[in-house]
Amino acid sequence: MKLTVLGCYGPYPKARGACSGYLLEDDDSKILIDCGNGVLSKLFAIMSDLNKLDAIFISHLHSDHMGDLLVLRYAIGIGQLMGKVRKSIPIYLPSSPKDEYDKIQFNNAFIRNIINEKTTVKVNNFNVSFKKTDHSVECYAIAFEHSGKRFVYSGDTKVFDGFIDFVRGSDLFLCEASVLEKDRTESMAHLSAKQAAEIALNAGIKRLLLTHLLPEIKPDSLYTEAREVFPYILEMAEEGKGYFI
Ligand SMILES: [Zn+2]
Ligand SMILES: [Zn+2]
Repeated sequence: MKLTVLGCYGPYPKARGACSGYLLEDDDSKILIDCGNGVLSKLFAIMSDLNKLDAIFISHLHSDHMGDLLVLRYAIGIGQLMGKVRKSIPIYLPSSPKDEYDKIQFNNAFIRNIINEKTTVKVNNFNVSFKKTDHSVECYAIAFEHSGKRFVYSGDTKVFDGFIDFVRGSDLFLCEASVLEKDRTESMAHLSAKQAAEIALNAGIKRLLLTHLLPEIKPDSLYTEAREVFPYILEMAEEGKGYFI
């Protein structure tokens, strides 16, 4: 598996950046994970033919994770009318908030599939499963398994029961680190860098990639906070960079 970071900011991007979006590939498949604002431009920079996109997985329906679906639906729908796009693209996503869910379809751009914790999906050689997180709207952490390797993406969340079990066994854990611990409040539905590192450590993970970066916080300070807890491979998500799993 190869993971390319298209966008790594949240809940809004820094200049010339994008919010959550990741391309997961093997030789035969391309999967888009989240499609926040700015992601479509980054995707088109490395992949112009939407026929090659096998599936889209959306962790939750906050704009920094799905905003560009609202323009991707035009790119697919108009592409279909022009004969450039020859299919509807399967998308896997939560069904709430309903007003957001209802906006997503345009012509036959997507084949919508509603996810829950019991959902399992097979996309070519990828097996995909879900764990509901503790966030301000319905949100799922997503696990992708392929050729004996496991990759888990946290989505947005605070710490919750069962999180560590879901993360355990990951060869790469892509985890949100929205704030520094000193700035975290109990009402925040996000993780600090310290909490992300603690989850990774307790799950026995050896490789942690931090994402969902707030433009105001220097990545170095998030890295330093996580490094105090997590002694293994630790990286900050960088747009355009590829990570092999
Ligand atoms: Zn977010
Ligand atoms: Zn969110």
